[in-house]
Amino acid sequence: MPYQHILVAVDLTDECDPVMKRAVALAASTQAKLSTVHVVEPMAMAFGGDVPMDLSMLQQQQFDQAKERMHQFTLSYPQVSVSENHLVYGQPRQEIHRLANEQGCDLIIVGSHGRHGLALLLGSTANDVLHGAPCDVLAVRLQKTE
Ligand code: AMP
Repeated sequence: MPYQHILVAVDLTDECDPVMKRAVALAASTQAKLSTVHVVEPMAMAFGGDVPMDLSMLQQQQFDQAKERMHQFTLSYPQVSVSENHLVYGQPRQEIHRLANEQGCDLIIVGSHGRHGLALLLGSTANDVLHGAPCDVLAVRLQKTE
């Protein structure tokens, strides 16, 4: 069965490009619907719990910036209809899985730096998304930047 609905997780950096190119080509070859998701993560408690600080304004700014970047991204990829570009708030793994379930996606595409060793311990969204995914996951290998 060819894939019918592909969800691409985008971090809205330049690294989206190879991931999107692969996704667009795959969607075209299987006639699949294409959706994207960017997750705005809750702001880290940079100052620790003891400092009384309202992060809501910073959080709103962060969300507004993501909205603007998502808008620019939308213009770069007219292959994805605007309503299929999702901007959500939360933990990437959880939100990507939730959206894939909700939208009935049968493939999630993420970028992967192919980290290993210590770097892997520090976290990889691709690795995170793979665990407990509600459908197939394709990790598009990204070039090392170092
Ligand atoms: P990372 O492991 O953070 O370097 O990210 C690898 C890949 O995970 C990216 O190429 C995206 O496909 C996906 N990703 C990372 N952060 C996000 C995010 N905030 N929202 C959606 N996808 C993300």
